[in-house]
Order: sequence, then C-alpha cells, then structure tokens
Amino acid sequence: MKALSISNLRKTYKGGFEALKGIDLNVEEGDFFALLGPNGAGKSTTIGIISSLVNKTEGKVSVFGYDLDTQLVELKRQIGLVPQEFNFNQFETVRQIVVNQAGYYGVPRQVAHERAEHYLKQLGLWDKRNDPARMLSGGMKRRLMIARALLHEPKLLILDEPTAGVDIELRRSMWDYLLEINKQGITIILTTHYLEEAETLCRNIAIIDHGAIVENTSIKRLLATL
Ligand code: ADP
Ligand code: ADP
Repeated sequence: MKALSISNLRKTYKGGFEALKGIDLNVEEGDFFALLGPNGAGKSTTIGIISSLVNKTEGKVSVFGYDLDTQLVELKRQIGLVPQEFNFNQFETVRQIVVNQAGYYGVPRQVAHERAEHYLKQLGLWDKRNDPARMLSGGMKRRLMIARALLHEPKLLILDEPTAGVDIELRRSMWDYLLEINKQGITIILTTHYLEEAETLCRNIAIIDHGAIVENTSIKRLLATL
C-alpha cells in the first residue's frame, strides 16, 4: 500500500512564482521518509498541499489511496500534521490543546482524554498538562504539537522541520520517539535541511531543490555515492 502518491504536482503562487515544477513522489506504508532541501526549495509547500492547507495548481495527490480532490475528509483523517510554526492558542492548557483536536475528527470525548494522557505521558508533558502552553519551552511546544497530531491516531505523520531550534539533547529524544512510533507502524514523512537528521532517522529520501526533485533513493544508496 502506498502511504503517499504524488504525480506531476505543480504550485504557482499568486504573483507567478513557481514553487513546485511538477514533482513525483511515492512513499510506501511503514516508511520513514525525508524530504531534504535548502530553504525555499518547496518542502513546506509540498506538505502544505498534502495536508490541504495550500491549494495546488496542478497534479494528483493521494494518501492511503484517498484522493485529495475527491476524498478530502478521508484523506485528512489519515494525516497528523506537525507544522513548523507554533499554531496553537498559547493561553490554552497543554491538555486542552490536545483534547480539542478531537473535535475536528469526531473522536469521542472520553477517548480523547485517555489518548491525551497516553501521548502526553509518552512525550514527557503530563506534568505540564494544566499549564498554559505559553509557559512551555520551545522543545516542549514542539512535542505538544506531536501529541496533538497523534490524537486521532493517523496512519501518516508529517513533520515540517521538527527539530529546528531544538537543542541537541532534546533532538535525540525526539528522534528516539519518532523511531519508536514508526516501529509501531506509523508512516512518517519529515522535511529537514540537515542531512544528518535524514541519515539518523530515515530509510528513504527525496532531495528537492528549486521546486524539483533532484534525487529520490534510499539513504543507504545516497550515502554510498557521497
Ligand atoms: P521550504 O519549505 O523548502 O523552505 P517553501 O515551500 O516554504 O520552501 O517555499 C518555496 C518557495 O515558495 C520559496 O521561494 C518561497 O519564498 C515561496 N513561497 C512560499 N509561500 C509563498 C506564498 N504564500 N506566496 C508566494 N511565494 C511563496
Ligand atoms: P482559531 O480561532 O485559532 O482558528 P481553531 O479552533 O480553529 O481556533 O484552531 C485551534 C488551533 O488548532 C489553531 O491554531 C489551528 O491552526 C489549529 N488547527 C485547526 N485545525 C487543525 C487540524 N486539522 N490539524 C492541526 N491543527 C489544526
């Protein structure tokens, strides 16, 4: 089963800038996949389109077989998104932010509370559950967004530069956590501009530059050619 299938995806922003110039990408179920590229390459645009936050100009996208154009509700249910910016209400408590996500996906309230406890414990945030999110450190806010993204138990977790601005120790523990949930069966796609991050975590990689995929291979093969 393909977790993600993209063909001939194009994005031209208003004003005429071509951010994606017809990309093809396939990610298999269970993969840990990196989309690597420099700033401005088109990584955020790509995942923005997959998670339906950005409109595409042309092309086909499907997630676990659900088509972006015709099966949007089902497609969205497959995806947990961890965006780059902190986009939660800083005045809500940690637990509220996670539990509130249930409303978007029809997760029953009791189940949402149980899962929130589970994920907040796993991510080391349970002690902070009653604190307003603004009290958290940057690394904790990042982990809060991971807990929120997992609440509806998506099959595909997409993270945009998950460890940007996170210190090295915390980065390690986040890496360990992502590897663990991948082992449990969640397909993961992350964007990064660190080759080291891709190397540590991922099995397969696509390199994007100026809106085009310039390499799409396994990490093993990529490293063998360097
Ligand atoms: P990355 O995530 O790889 O850094 P982005 O997908 O954010 O790259 O951006 C790709 C290109 O598209 C960049 O040149 C960026 O300036 C441009 N871009 C992104 N968003 C917009 C927008 N809303 N309007 C116009 N150009 C944009
Ligand atoms: P707001 O009034 O801030 O838009 P919402 O209740 O719409 O409040 O959203 C709460 C927060 O959750 C917002 O910061 C929003 O960006 C984020 N959010 C909304 N829908 C989703 C979603 N499907 N996945 C991830 N985050 C979401």
